[in-house]
Amino acid sequence: MTDPIERTARFLLEAERPVVFTGAGVSTESGIPDFRSPGGVWDRFDPREMTYKNFVGTETGRRKYWEIGRHSYPLMRKAEPNRAHLAITELHRLGRLDCCITQNVDNLHQRAGLPEEKVIELHGNATRARCLACERPYSRDEIQEWLDGGVEIPTCAECGGIVKPHTILFGEPMPPGATEEAERRARASDVFVVVGSSLVVYPAAYMPVHAKHAGAALVIINLSRTPYDAQADVQITGKAGEIMHAIVRRLRSLQ
Ligand code: NAD
Repeated sequence: MTDPIERTARFLLEAERPVVFTGAGVSTESGIPDFRSPGGVWDRFDPREMTYKNFVGTETGRRKYWEIGRHSYPLMRKAEPNRAHLAITELHRLGRLDCCITQNVDNLHQRAGLPEEKVIELHGNATRARCLACERPYSRDEIQEWLDGGVEIPTCAECGGIVKPHTILFGEPMPPGATEEAERRARASDVFVVVGSSLVVYPAAYMPVHAKHAGAALVIINLSRTPYDAQADVQITGKAGEIMHAIVRRLRSLQ
């Protein structure tokens, strides 16, 4: 059996704890650019400016961050889930998904109907924000209203502290709870499907390694090559929406 769609569908059919791991590539078909493809985010912004240290430590860093965020957030907010997100939700409905570990912050898995408890967000969620001093939560939509109203650097209405989106910046520690849970679920999985990730951002990119070392079958679906392709049991070069849709259709026909 050589057809990679068929092989992946059969892996999923027989799996007890299938895990899907997604990156920015799962959302490009929704119109949200990834970081590393040509035309992606790093072609337009300097990544060195987007560090935790710059944000927390300097007013200039925060001003720049919010200036970019004011323009990029509405694009993310109006994006709709695509066929890849919907196919992953369908895996859940078919009882073929232990969880979806995502590096994305765009909330599109949840908007595609995947229950909150099935999504492990390694890098946070851009629809939420909070005060770093008193922990008061804010919706990012509310902060957007402040920005649109002329506020350049949002501060907490309660205590004046620094307000920061619930996303992980470069140099910021990963949320320990989500990271440990993701590692545990990766190690316990029997099929681990990577969709739309360059697998170069660590520690997130260790997840497929944990899964593979623990004995899972590894499937990698991506538009470009990844450093782990040689270790994959199935490697598919293609678009996430098309490929995931085809896999789920095949799986349904096998059930
Ligand atoms: P990345 O930009 O490093 O890699 C994305 C990969 O997806 C690339 O290898 C590209 O070839 C592939 N790709 C692009 N379009 C695709 C498609 N239609 N089908 C299949 N593959 C496709 O992204 P990453 O690995 O997720 O790591 C970068 C970091 O950036 C992560 O932390 C992520 O959270 C963050 N990020 C998130 C979003 C989002 O939330 N949507 C967007 C940009 C960046």
